[in-house]
Amino acid sequence: MATYAMTGGATGIGAAIKETLRKDGHTVIVADIKDADIIADLSNEEGRQAAIDGISTACAGKLDGFIACAGVATHVPNKQLIPAVNYFGTTELVDGLAELLASSKGSVLLISSNSAPMSTDSAFVELLLDADENAALAHVEGIDGQAAYSGSKQAVARWMRRNVNRFAQQGVRINAIAPGYTQTPMTQAVEESEEYGQAIRDFMASIPVGRPGQPEDMANAASFLLSNAASFICGSVIFVDGGHDAMLRPDQF
Ligand code: NAD
Repeated sequence: MATYAMTGGATGIGAAIKETLRKDGHTVIVADIKDADIIADLSNEEGRQAAIDGISTACAGKLDGFIACAGVATHVPNKQLIPAVNYFGTTELVDGLAELLASSKGSVLLISSNSAPMSTDSAFVELLLDADENAALAHVEGIDGQAAYSGSKQAVARWMRRNVNRFAQQGVRINAIAPGYTQTPMTQAVEESEEYGQAIRDFMASIPVGRPGQPEDMANAASFLLSNAASFICGSVIFVDGGHDAMLRPDQF
């Protein structure tokens, strides 16, 4: 049985991934801002280091996989949390755990989004990919939440692709899933809001398979990608979105 570590396992998609892996008999160490083995705020450097240190101690030298699931949505009071948690809370943790993952020939799963290809602010994405956190946090103040969110998720996918060879050379497979609209605490608030509720219901109705995603849909994909059954899948961004990306961008891939 494998030992996995993850961020964002407290609620939603992350909680489903944690439960699925544990049900299959694996050990899962969770770092999150709440309800976790390691309490850490991934929006800042100290919190990220605390998560890396906590996971390194808890796994006792055996880390077969890491899932970077923590994230915040478009409608947050402080927009700086979007790049800080979604991008730097992902890339810095993967880098901080890289040596451990290499020694166990582990597998990494990142969580992008099917909104990533719709990112509209290339300058923001470049600042993230340049790892210029101060500049990215300053830049995000001048753009809307949707551009910030999709940009952070595009940068996650491109960072993964840019680094695939570095990780694979060390025996570490790295992939990402790009979830479509999934019913979790993150989306519930917007779904129930007077301002956006109808638009969200219309958006859900346009998903080709005829239903919104559930956290378990993402957990099933995650569980497969982390397993040896996916041993030749590396550097892939898998859309788990009921056909929405293909419907909206049929000729781009
Ligand atoms: P969620 O709000 O239920 O879960 C987010 C998790 O991240 C929670 O456990 C939360 O405590 C943790 N988190 C938030 N801020 C943190 C911080 N500063 N430090 C540490 N942990 C923090 O949302 P979800 O929908 O399950 O989202 C999980 C991932 O999936 C996110 O990365 C999200 O962007 C992505 N995603 C979700 C959807 C969707 O429709 N729900 C679609 C595409 C991508």
